[in-house]
Amino acid sequence: MICPCGCGEVIELNLLKQARPCWSAEEHPDGTISLVPSVWRQRGCRSHFFLRRGGIEWC
Ligand SMILES: [Zn+2]
Repeated sequence: MICPCGCGEVIELNLLKQARPCWSAEEHPDGTISLVPSVWRQRGCRSHFFLRRGGIEWC
């Protein structure tokens, strides 16, 4: 996914349980997606946000 803050950087999220850190994505019946836990970039823009039902919630 592209960082939602507008910096244009690509964020890669690991969804494999065998590797850390790992995120889990939940798809809702309306086709939107939520991610847990939150995404917190340690480099670059240091954005911290949740992806909930396809929308961004900033921390
Ligand atoms: Zn950013």
